[in-house]
Amino acid sequence: MTNGDDMLAAAAARADELAAPGLKPVPRRKVAILACMDTRIDLFPMLGIERGDAHIIRNAGGLATDDAIRSLAASQRLLGTEEVIVVMHEGCGLHGASDEDFAAALAEDGAEPGWRLGSFEDLDAALRESLARLRESPELPARDHVRGFVFDPERGTLREVR
Ligand SMILES: [Zn+2]
Repeated sequence: MTNGDDMLAAAAARADELAAPGLKPVPRRKVAILACMDTRIDLFPMLGIERGDAHIIRNAGGLATDDAIRSLAASQRLLGTEEVIVVMHEGCGLHGASDEDFAAALAEDGAEPGWRLGSFEDLDAALRESLARLRESPELPARDHVRGFVFDPERGTLREVR
């Protein structure tokens, strides 16, 4: 496994490009994006954002889990974001997976975590569930602008789920 070494070398070769002198940690566009970790989702060109514009929170599925809400609470309360965009996608690894099988495999290895995998059968319903949870979370002081999008990696399209 050489990724760590390759990545350190890549960063060392691009320090001038990576440096952001004077760029503030406060997201310019006052928005936090919660998205699936899927490799095909390139949020910056997709959403027309640049470094410094937004907080990016990614997890398996792009689900509004406790830890996603922790990050969003920090984003809003400490760094002033006022808007949340959730991005899920077609062909997600969680679509059609089994929480039960996943939990059983974990238990076989002696792990009984307090979280579930978060698999789902209906993509739009899963996204609506996350949006509803965010809109009901008192951890987040700004809940008037929570929107959800579904990306199709095959066609490159993004659609809103209401
Ligand atoms: Zn996914």
